[in-house]
Amino acid sequence: MFEQKNAIESLKEGLFYNSKHVCEAVGESEINAADDFSEGYKEYMNEGKTERESVCYFEEKAKNAGFVEFDANAKYVAGDKVYYNNRGKSIILAVIGRRSIASGAKIAAAHIDSPRLDLKPNPLYEDSEMALFKTHYYGGIKKYQWTAIPLSIHGVVVKGDGEKVFVRIGEDEGDPQFVITDLLPHLASEQNKRSLPDGIKGEELNILVGSRPFSKDEGSEKVKLNILKILNKKYGITETDFLSAELEIVPAFKATDIGFDRSLIGAYGHDDKCCAYPAAEAILGVENPEYTAVTILTDKEEIGSVGNTGLHSSYLKYFIADLAAMQGVEPWVALRNSECLSADVNSAYDTTFADVFEKRNSSQINHGVVITKYTGARGKSGSSDASAEYMGRIRKMLDENGIVWQIGELGKVDIGGGGTVAQYIADLDIDVVDLGIPVLSMHAPFEVIAKTDLYMAYRAFSVFFK
Ligand code: MN
Ligand code: MN
Repeated sequence: MFEQKNAIESLKEGLFYNSKHVCEAVGESEINAADDFSEGYKEYMNEGKTERESVCYFEEKAKNAGFVEFDANAKYVAGDKVYYNNRGKSIILAVIGRRSIASGAKIAAAHIDSPRLDLKPNPLYEDSEMALFKTHYYGGIKKYQWTAIPLSIHGVVVKGDGEKVFVRIGEDEGDPQFVITDLLPHLASEQNKRSLPDGIKGEELNILVGSRPFSKDEGSEKVKLNILKILNKKYGITETDFLSAELEIVPAFKATDIGFDRSLIGAYGHDDKCCAYPAAEAILGVENPEYTAVTILTDKEEIGSVGNTGLHSSYLKYFIADLAAMQGVEPWVALRNSECLSADVNSAYDTTFADVFEKRNSSQINHGVVITKYTGARGKSGSSDASAEYMGRIRKMLDENGIVWQIGELGKVDIGGGGTVAQYIADLDIDVVDLGIPVLSMHAPFEVIAKTDLYMAYRAFSVFFK
């Protein structure tokens, strides 16, 4: 009887698809490695909260690892390491392969922008002796989540004389922080009747930035004047300079361990920095690869990959074309033979909201990297839908290297949907599939991932480049 049961179990093992908890699939040393890797990740999450700060962070790391600024007129040889900084908001890291670029490149593509609030071009106003900033939210947020939490301000202001000033306030010990006020429950009976998306409306996302007047003298808008005086003293800017600024409001939380067992990480911006970090770390460790290895950390994914720093633009195509030209290869040959892992997150199965998931096809935290064959909505619309052949190649690569992986789909059919950069990579005639990390509370000011999944992503990108 016992032996028969074993036979059935082993038959099941051989025939069924089941994803496994990483801790059941690998040894203790790899779990320890995952915990160690997570320490570096948390440091990055506190440093690189916006796309601009992430570019600075990875450019610095790349330089320290021997990468030099890309020169389209140079000639590179196998093993050379280059980086291309696209307008301070996206960055490409590449290591030249032993094979000609005619054999294609191995590309990992993640995004370093995350949902947030941007200041409007003319943001500062005073009302009832309070100074506030008007905002316009960026990306898909649940607006009510952004009230009554500590916020910080990041970005750049370009002054009338062309000088660029960097702003980062609310992150360092002793910095002031900012907040969006919410209504007290005692007076919220009308607000409570609003539907959840309107619980806080777009024009109610106003940031409180001050409350003391400039002086006792007569006059209007003295609180606003005081704020401008402080900003002028600190940054040398005037109100007009806001017109040529990009100032982003993000949660001031630090990345932190979550859970008694410290198995999880809570932070702002896991989507998609939890894929950007391992994709960057993997290429920083690449030496003399067979195929040219490329990690691209892009901007603007959260609003549709638009703009010249988003992947809908031609900057990746031109970068590959420049590499191809150096080697006397037609650019389309290099592109056609390239392969890409579109490194983006998927929604982790959340037992509290089980209704929206189809469990057999959902990713789970701690079950390793998630391969997402297609994204999209309403019948896969807006998805690139990876081929069976490419899925097969990636799956084989992961299995042969002992990397724990799972499949995932973004919720039940017709419940919602989403997209990634995969479709824009596919437009370049490159084989591509989404491979990333399951996230709980995705797009919330404080998201959650598992350390084991983060580490499996690092291992996946490392073997992809090898
Ligand atoms: Mn994403
Ligand atoms: Mn997203």
